[in-house]
Amino acid sequence: MKHIVLLGSTGSIGRSTLEIVDQFRERYRVAGLAAGSNLTLLREQVEHFEPGVVSVKEGFAAQFRQMLPRGMKVEVVSGPEGLEHVATLPHGEMVVSSLVGSVGLLPTLAAIRAGKDIALANKECLVMAGEVVMNEAKKKGIRILPIDSEHSAVYQCLIGHRKVDLRRIILTASGGPFLNYPQEKMGEVTPEMALVHPNWQMGKKVTIDSATLMNKGLEVIEAHFLFDVPVDKIEVYIHPQSSIHALIEYIDGSLIAQLSYPDMKVPIAYALSYPERLPVAASRLNLFEMGKLVLSPPDRKKFPALDLAYQAINEGGGLPVVLNAANEVSVEAFLCRRLRFHQIPETIEQVMNGFAKRRLDTIEDILDVDQWSREKAEEMIRSF
Ligand code: MG
Repeated sequence: MKHIVLLGSTGSIGRSTLEIVDQFRERYRVAGLAAGSNLTLLREQVEHFEPGVVSVKEGFAAQFRQMLPRGMKVEVVSGPEGLEHVATLPHGEMVVSSLVGSVGLLPTLAAIRAGKDIALANKECLVMAGEVVMNEAKKKGIRILPIDSEHSAVYQCLIGHRKVDLRRIILTASGGPFLNYPQEKMGEVTPEMALVHPNWQMGKKVTIDSATLMNKGLEVIEAHFLFDVPVDKIEVYIHPQSSIHALIEYIDGSLIAQLSYPDMKVPIAYALSYPERLPVAASRLNLFEMGKLVLSPPDRKKFPALDLAYQAINEGGGLPVVLNAANEVSVEAFLCRRLRFHQIPETIEQVMNGFAKRRLDTIEDILDVDQWSREKAEEMIRSF
């Protein structure tokens, strides 16, 4: 029986994770849950999975306690301390880190420092603090198993091979809803149009990131830290079918790929059960119906976010933190109709250009730059 803690239980990854736990009750037990303010769904989850501890958004603990059935034994905590408390529960063995955005950094780091294995969906924590996170993981001897489908694919394709024989990693991207949309009309894109992803069911933030290709940019940085591979060996190909999730080319020209139906339950189950595999209830690829596999290079002019991400990681000096924070603020502003779609990368670029690069040694340095970037991005957005 593996005791898991789930950070972000009411989000898309969180719900899929609980479906797997439900399917394999004999293997997994939920020790703790953390969510934001979707208290109705959280209450259902608490009643169904009976975790010992639940963390809610700051200020929501009293309200949530009242919603629970009388006599129900569960500790309710809240805010950043609550997240950290649930992430470090003594009997938690694995922490599923699926909070959205930079809020996931501190609890994930706390979990690593407490010696928990991590199933990582929160790519932002590696973009912001990849070096710190990976060093701590190494020091503690814990495993970070990626839930991001592309990285799960890379993880699987690396097993049994020597890193020195690796020539390049290819991460695939569906291209999002605007793959074939004319560049001159990108300014007219509305949140409704951008929130319709052709292949994947995901939360709002990652869906918008997929539409701008920033998601793939963040994933390049994520892969760089996770697998300790130089960025110039990580490429992005557009693959609209989302059947191949990543490929690795070795020096002899062999390509090893991982394919599956685009359902997040597949990489989540792999992360939970590694090195075993589970007969997870997800759709299967029908090879006869798949047809021709199409791969093409991304349009870097139409989707400048991708090059911004490469620039950020190549130049370093805190730029990935700036990229991530400015992106989070811009995506939020776009969803609230305060920013146009094509202005998302414009805002990020301007904030990056206005930043004086420097070495970031500590989490405090990183959080300072994160805060500075958010304020700058807000300023830019107001000026548009
Ligand atoms: Mg992904």
